[in-house]
Amino acid sequence: MRILTLDFLLEQSAAVSLSDIENYFFHSDRITLYRTLKTFEKKGLIHSIQEKNTTKYSLCQDACTEGFHQDNHLHFYCTQCKETVCLEQVDLSEIQVPSNFSLQQLRFFAKGICDKCNG
Ligand SMILES: [Zn+2]
Ligand SMILES: [Zn+2]
Ligand SMILES: [Zn+2]
Repeated sequence: MRILTLDFLLEQSAAVSLSDIENYFFHSDRITLYRTLKTFEKKGLIHSIQEKNTTKYSLCQDACTEGFHQDNHLHFYCTQCKETVCLEQVDLSEIQVPSNFSLQQLRFFAKGICDKCNG
């Protein structure tokens, strides 16, 4: 199941939700799928993207390792095709917070029209 899920994720050009994966595998066990995704996330293979009502998952770049994600890039949601893509070229890791604040997580989310829909 893990290998199948990973294969599926590797084939995607956009981020996918749990339901997308579930539908693809003809309604396989949701709990198993969810656990698989959580394991992948922990291992630094995939990262989650929080959208309004759903969580989507996308593969990580090589820099991520177990327990340490470095996905400080922009996530772009296309209002036309409703897909979310990782824009790794938009590096947002340089963001600084005042010295008496400690940063644990950064989330970036942009909305607009993607390159495919722009033709
Ligand atoms: Zn990551
Ligand atoms: Zn689009
Ligand atoms: Zn991403």
